[in-house]
Amino acid sequence: MTVLHFINNRFVPPLEGETFETLNPATNQPITAVASGSAADVDAAVAAARKAFDEGPWPRMKAEERAAALRRIGELIEKHADEIADIEIMDSGVPASQIKKGAIPRAAQNFYFFADMATKITGESFPKNGQFMNYTIRKPVGVAGLITPWNVPFMLETWKVAPALAAGNTCILKPAEWAPLSANKLAEIIQEADLPPGVFNLVHGIGEQAGAALVAHPGVQLISFTGETSTGKEILRNGANTLKRFSMELGGKSPTIVFEDADLERALDAAIWQVYSLNGERCTAGSRLLLQQSIASQFLERLAERVERIVVGDPTDMRTEVGPLIHPEHWQRVKSYIDVARQEGATVRVGGDRPPHLPEGNYFQPTLITGAHNRMRVAQEEIFGPVLVVITFKDETEALKMANDIRYGLAAYVWTRDLTRGHRVAEAIESGMVWINSQNVRDLRTPFGGAKESGIGREGGHYSFDFYTEITTIHVALGQHRIPKLGAQV
Ligand code: NAD
Repeated sequence: MTVLHFINNRFVPPLEGETFETLNPATNQPITAVASGSAADVDAAVAAARKAFDEGPWPRMKAEERAAALRRIGELIEKHADEIADIEIMDSGVPASQIKKGAIPRAAQNFYFFADMATKITGESFPKNGQFMNYTIRKPVGVAGLITPWNVPFMLETWKVAPALAAGNTCILKPAEWAPLSANKLAEIIQEADLPPGVFNLVHGIGEQAGAALVAHPGVQLISFTGETSTGKEILRNGANTLKRFSMELGGKSPTIVFEDADLERALDAAIWQVYSLNGERCTAGSRLLLQQSIASQFLERLAERVERIVVGDPTDMRTEVGPLIHPEHWQRVKSYIDVARQEGATVRVGGDRPPHLPEGNYFQPTLITGAHNRMRVAQEEIFGPVLVVITFKDETEALKMANDIRYGLAAYVWTRDLTRGHRVAEAIESGMVWINSQNVRDLRTPFGGAKESGIGREGGHYSFDFYTEITTIHVALGQHRIPKLGAQV
C-alpha cells in the first residue's frame, strides 16, 4: 500500500501518480511505495495551509487552546510510542535503544515544551519617551515550509512542527525521502488530535522536486531547513526570488577537545557516545577528537579497545549500539572517506569496512582514524558515519587554532578540570554550541544552531519565535507632537 500525502486533514494520493520506494537499511529490501510529490501536490498543500491561515481558527484562537492541542499531540506520541519506534527503526536503521529511550520521548517533549511556550509569547513595551510610547506584538508569519533530514526523522520533524504551530502558523512538512515513514504517524496523530484542516500538511517526495517546489512557492513565507550545507545553499538561492525567511540547521565537523587534566574516564565515554551513537549520523557528532599529546597514547589505547567492542547489528535488537547506515549510496560515501584517509597518509586503526558477520544491509564498522592532521579531508569534511578522526595537539593555543580551522561551527566539546580554561576555550571556539565536561545534553530552553557554514539563525526556547513570528512595532502618540506642514506656506 502506498504511503500518502496528508493535506487538509486527509490522506491523499499524489496528483501525478508518481511514487518512490523506501528501503530497510538492514536488508536493503523495499518496505513500501511512498507518494512522490510534484509541484501540483505542493500547490494543493500550500492552498490548504494558506486557507487555514487566512480564514481558519488556528492563528486566531487563544494561545491556551493552541497549547492544549499541542499537548494532545504530545500525549498521542507517548500513546503510540512503540508503533512509531518500530517504524522509525525499520526505516532509519537507528538502534532501538536510542530511538525508544531518546528520540521518541524527546519528540513528545518538543510538543509539551512548545505548548507551554505558546502561552508565553510576549511583546516589549517602550514606556513613554517624550510624547510617545511604543510597543511590539508578535504575530504568526503565515505558511511555514519545514524540510527535514533522515538521520533522526521523527524527532527532527517535531522539532520544527511544534514551534511553527505554537506560534500560530500553518505548515507543510517535507520529510527526507530516505526515511519518510514515521512522518505519516505524525500526520495520523495530528488527525486524531483534531487540529483544524490545513494547519498541518505533509508532502512526501524527492528534495529536488517536492522540496524545491516548496522553497520556490510564493505562498510560503518561512523555510526551516535541516540538512547538508550544500543543500542549504541551494535552497537559499531558490528561495531568493520570493524573499522568504530562512532558518538553516546545517552540517558540522565538531571537535571534542580533551586536555591532559580532564576526567579521562568520562571524556572517553563521551567521545565514543558522541560520534558512534545514532550510527554516527548525527549533526552534532564530535567527529574530530583533539587529544593533548601528553595523554594521547594512553587515551588512544583505551579508545581503540572500546571502539572494537562496539556492538554492531540488527537495529531492532535492544543490545545493538550501531545499526546500518541509511542507504547504500551513503555507505559508499562513508567508505570513500576511508580510502581518502589512507591516501592522505592517516592510519585506519580500527574498522574501515563492512563487519564480516553482516554481509547484507548497510552495516559499517565503527572506525577510528589516527595519525591525522587537521588539514586532511577526513578532518575537514563531514563524513556523517561512525568514523572518528583523532588529531593530537601540544597546548591550548594549538587546540583552539585547530578547532577553529574549519568551515563548520555547529558544536564543540571541551574536557578539562580547569574551569577557567574551560570557559576561556568555550568562548574562543567559533561554534553555535559548546559543552564543557559533557556530552550533548540539550536543554530545550536554549538556542540551537550553528555558526559559520553550520547554519543561519537559532531555534529552541523563545529563540524559535524570533523565526516563527513577525514583530509589529506600534507607535502611539500620546499628545500633540509637532507634525511638519508641507504645502501650508503662506
Ligand atoms: P540533505 O540536505 O540531503 O536533505 C535534507 C532534506 O532536504 C531532505 O528532505 C531532502 O529531500 C531535502 N532537499 C534536498 N535537496 C533539496 C532542494 N534542492 N530543495 C529543497 N529541499 C531539498 O540532508 P540529509 O542527507 O537528509 O541529512 C544529513 C545532513 O543533515 C548532514 O549534513 C547533517 O549534519 C545535517 N543535519 C543538521 C542538523 C542541525 O541541526 N544542524 C541536524 C540533523 C542533520
